[in-house]
Amino acid sequence: MGSVSPEDLALLTPSEERAREARRSPVRRALLIANPASRLGKRRLPRAVDALQKAGVDCQVAFTERPGHAAELVLERSAHYDAVFTLGGDGTAMEAAGALAGTSRPLGVLAGGTGNLLARAVGIPLDPRRAVPMLLGGEELHIDLGRIVSCNPPRHFAVAAGVGIDAAMVAETPSWLKRRLGVLAYTITATRAALRSVLRREFFHVRLTVDGEVFEAAAAAVMIANFGAVLSDRITFGPGIRFDDGVLDACFYSPRNLRDATRIMWRLLRRDFASDYAMVYRSGRHIRVETDPPRLAQADGELLGMTPLEIEIAPRAVRLLVPKQPNDEPSTMPPRAPDRA
Ligand SMILES: [Mg+2]
Repeated sequence: MGSVSPEDLALLTPSEERAREARRSPVRRALLIANPASRLGKRRLPRAVDALQKAGVDCQVAFTERPGHAAELVLERSAHYDAVFTLGGDGTAMEAAGALAGTSRPLGVLAGGTGNLLARAVGIPLDPRRAVPMLLGGEELHIDLGRIVSCNPPRHFAVAAGVGIDAAMVAETPSWLKRRLGVLAYTITATRAALRSVLRREFFHVRLTVDGEVFEAAAAAVMIANFGAVLSDRITFGPGIRFDDGVLDACFYSPRNLRDATRIMWRLLRRDFASDYAMVYRSGRHIRVETDPPRLAQADGELLGMTPLEIEIAPRAVRLLVPKQPNDEPSTMPPRAPDRA
């Protein structure tokens, strides 16, 4: 859904197609921001530098030393470069993306973390030796960002923010399991958290305000999505979610019992978004999530602290380098559910 697969591109409308533009100028000088504390950042750095140099790019490496440092490095140093690359987790990529928002400099995301949600969502290979030439010879996607204004300073996300099951997934996945299993660790923890919330009836009261319209219900999870799918499409959030349409999609999951929960999971897996009281979707430019009691929130796999959460959209804020998108390859995926009107 949010993942840019050949069949997604075949469904792009002309206005959506404008978001994908050919690179205007070649990348000759690049700032590579590496997080040495990320899961694979240190190990993959020599490969990333080597791949950039082989491609004729003059590359300077800057290491992050603390949270927030990637954004500072972009603001202080990126004006001298044609592009910024990050090698680390989604947190490092999103700090750089937020700091690049509104500039003409593109961002190349190299995977060095555990989830690598953004890289997976746009089809960037996880090995930098493959990713670098594909990004330099690829296209630019102009993507929206979610801007979390309830954080001080405001933070950004590309894929999704949420409260409930997904925040539990981030908080509870042990680091040894992440190191051993990578992205599979999150899948295991998410499944466990989903089952537990239903069996123990761990619901919370949610007051969701979308562009001034208020919804209230007991929920097990609320997701504010920019991309429609994560973890290489293992989890799909809802129908018609696009990363370049100027709105965020609030997805509200309220299973009342195990049967509801099973049905929701089955429908998400099959991309069946028919009307269902346990799955509600609303899109808008400004979204506020309040919960009773306060719950832990996350964005792109990073913990944010407790609700309330206030998010606005930054339309087409970042030029993301992505591999060349194959327009004319035959579809290898099952047909998608029809998009919401
Ligand atoms: Mg959108």
